Amino acid sequence: MHCAQALANQGGFHLSYKEHRKEYDIYYRELNKDILKEKAKEYRENNKDKINAKNSERITCECGCTSRKDKIFQHQKSSCHQKLMEQKNKSKRDLTDEELDVFFRTTYPFQNYPKGILITSYAQTI
Ligand SMILES: [Zn+2]
Repeated sequence: MHCAQALANQGGFHLSYKEHRKEYDIYYRELNKDILKEKAKEYRENNKDKINAKNSERITCECGCTSRKDKIFQHQKSSCHQKLMEQKNKSKRDLTDEELDVFFRTTYPFQNYPKGILITSYAQTI
């Protein structure tokens, strides 16, 4: 017997529909784990381009960097983001593209950025 049901029978303890539903969902997912996994895989295969396009969309972080959408959380945990936020808070305004450019060229000089291109205008996922 379902343990929730057993509980309900014992003490007149009634599970709400929502709780029942939750239990059922867990049970269902467990039972159909492989099928669901297959389906998810199939979906990813069929929509590879769509998913890829969505993930590679670039968004601008609050620190001024641009990052791939699927990498933004990673970026926000990076030292680069922390340092930029520090600078931003110190100057109490958004950093300009030039300031960001100087920041990257001086903080990460080993990256060998091409000369004459503002670093922030292209890939920035440090
Ligand atoms: Zn950032």
